Amino acid sequence: MNGMALKVAVIGGGIGGLTAAVALLHAGFDVHVYEQAPELTEVGGGINMAPNATRVLRRLGTHQRRWQDGRTLQRAPLNPLCEELYGAPHMTIHRADLLSVIASAFPAERVHLGHRLVGLADRGDRVEAWFDNGAHITPDVLVGADGIHSAVRAALFGEEPPEFAGCVAYRGLVPAERIADLGLELGSQSWVGPGGHFVHYFVSRGRLLNFVGWTEHDAWNREDWTDRATVARALAAFAGWHEQVRTIIAAAETCFIWALFDRDPLPRWSVGHTTLLGDACHPMYPFMGQGAAMAIEDGAALAACLRAIGDPAEALLHYERLRLPRVTRLQAMSRANKTRFHLRDGPAQQERDAEWAKAGDRSPDALRWLYEHDPADVPILASL
Ligand SMILES: Cc1cc2nc3c(=O)[nH]c(=O)nc-3n(C[C@H](O)[C@H](O)[C@H](O)COP(=O)(O)OP(=O)(O)OC[C@H]3O[C@@H](n4cnc5c(N)ncnc54)[C@H](O)[C@@H]3O)c2cc1C
Repeated sequence: MNGMALKVAVIGGGIGGLTAAVALLHAGFDVHVYEQAPELTEVGGGINMAPNATRVLRRLGTHQRRWQDGRTLQRAPLNPLCEELYGAPHMTIHRADLLSVIASAFPAERVHLGHRLVGLADRGDRVEAWFDNGAHITPDVLVGADGIHSAVRAALFGEEPPEFAGCVAYRGLVPAERIADLGLELGSQSWVGPGGHFVHYFVSRGRLLNFVGWTEHDAWNREDWTDRATVARALAAFAGWHEQVRTIIAAAETCFIWALFDRDPLPRWSVGHTTLLGDACHPMYPFMGQGAAMAIEDGAALAACLRAIGDPAEALLHYERLRLPRVTRLQAMSRANKTRFHLRDGPAQQERDAEWAKAGDRSPDALRWLYEHDPADVPILASL
């Protein structure tokens, strides 16, 4: 790293922030990450997933099923077909594993834990930022990767609380031996039913089955809802669903509940030498499974723009112009899937099932724009 390298501060050490930090470091910038938490963590606890596990998981597929009778609506073999079709595999991975894999590619001495950003000011050619522990920095560029409740976003565009999206998720991990009798295939299964859907897939070398069960709710009452839910409550939310769904829930040791929050798309992400990425600027319903994927893409695109364009303010504007149409499209598709996955039984549901039987918008060609994209390959830059 030479003394002239642009100093970039990334606020937030989640999946998006750390990926951006690695991409920026590789592009030759002097990068530091500031994370409010005392350690780098993702919900779920730390379980290793070594390459021998991913070799198994690469053979996964997906399977859409009916909530009550378990009938197959669609089967999409993802691997190895996915790699042949799109040049990269599809994997299911424990969130903590994913974060630790990304973190291992970034020097630990450049991650500043226990630093909660509380204020920032654009000073033209640099940015000043302050932290709750009294620390103060003056990077050339500041990137807000601080999640859906982003302090950087609030500083740039004003405070606006996210809206409850009318959905909660029951989440749990089940040791594989507890559900061995079910003889589950390794691939992901997604069950769609009236007012909810339920997804399960193996993680951690097939030792744990991860499940997420979504149900609709009118209101979110913070006093009633906590992070931890009982298994009985999750079972009650999926009363009447297929035996396989209920057996999986019943086998969970603990169960967590998450409320889903949302924001309308932002028209701008950057002001001067400060920008945003990931959930800080484009949170989306997880019904395309693309929130973290978009945060990861943002980091690669941001590094490519900063490397190619000398003026940081101009580079940040290019970055947001490149990224906005793609993430806005996915935000809209994710919202539409909430309705589509949760249809009451009736004509609309039958129409959806018939479309899925023909592959419809989930066919390999329909998904090419999404899966073939390389965010670091930014053609617009070629003309600069
Ligand atoms: C139930 C569920 C299932 C999902 N499934 C998928 C999926 O299958 N595939 C997929 O791609 N996406 C999925 N997503 C979406 C994905 O989890 C998010 O989009 C992704 O984690 C966003 O990453 P991020 O780095 O932008 O933000 P975050 O992960 O929220 O990270 C933000 C970081 O910033 C830190 N921070 C916050 N404020 C400050 C501050 N003031 N100062 C310093 N640090 C701060 C936080 O502590 C945190 O570490 C799912 C989401 C949910 C809720």
